[in-house]
Amino acid sequence: MNIEAKELSKIYGVGENRVAALDRVNLEIVSGDFISIMGPSGSGKSTLLHLLSGLDQPTSGSLTYDGKDIYRLGDKELSAFRRQKIGFIFQQFNLLPVLTARENITMPLLLDKKQPDEAYLKQLAELLGIRDRLTHLPHELSGGQQQRVAIARALIAKPEIIFADEPTGNLDSKSGNEVMELLKSIWHSMGKTLVIITHDRQIAQMAERQFMIIDGTLSEVNAK
Ligand code: ADP
Ligand code: MG
Repeated sequence: MNIEAKELSKIYGVGENRVAALDRVNLEIVSGDFISIMGPSGSGKSTLLHLLSGLDQPTSGSLTYDGKDIYRLGDKELSAFRRQKIGFIFQQFNLLPVLTARENITMPLLLDKKQPDEAYLKQLAELLGIRDRLTHLPHELSGGQQQRVAIARALIAKPEIIFADEPTGNLDSKSGNEVMELLKSIWHSMGKTLVIITHDRQIAQMAERQFMIIDGTLSEVNAK
């Protein structure tokens, strides 16, 4: 799917508390793109990713997926669209602590009353190196393993698009590099669209298109 954001803005608060977190952002994402977005803390990175993925609504501007304005969908339709088309990876993993790794991974499918594709689940677990950890609870896993479980959860519904908000931000550099290499190989081998936010220049440079965001304003760094 191709994604087009036009003049996307997000204002939080009013009066003295008014914050323009995002200021008229224009961005076209073509199916198969690998995009990185860098920027200082508080520059609007998470806000942008949440808007692009339909997790939050803009104050103004539009967002289309293959020409369809997703903010015009009803809540239920939008949630279903997100579960089927979009995988989201958080900095804090966001695993449910009382569920095993396997249960966390298959959770999004249960919401759609779907059964997991066992062969695909096995393939993912193998690829991500968590096959012998599927019956473990999150607290029994290392940070890197928890993030790999979260990646499997983001991929289980076979979404076309993966958004990752500082996926290595809570990891040491070794596990962070492993997670990035995995994401890149998934993008490459499965033909996904990957949009990743990072603080890390080296990670940003792994992408094909690099963007910077400063005070809510987005610009492309060096088109290859
Ligand atoms: P980043 O991810 O780049 O660190 P964010 O997108 O989280 O930045 O935040 C951008 C700006 O918007 C910051 O100034 C932040 O304080 C503000 N902001 C984010 N979320 C809210 C909110 N729910 N209410 C008010 N201000 C917010
Ligand atoms: Mg953030």
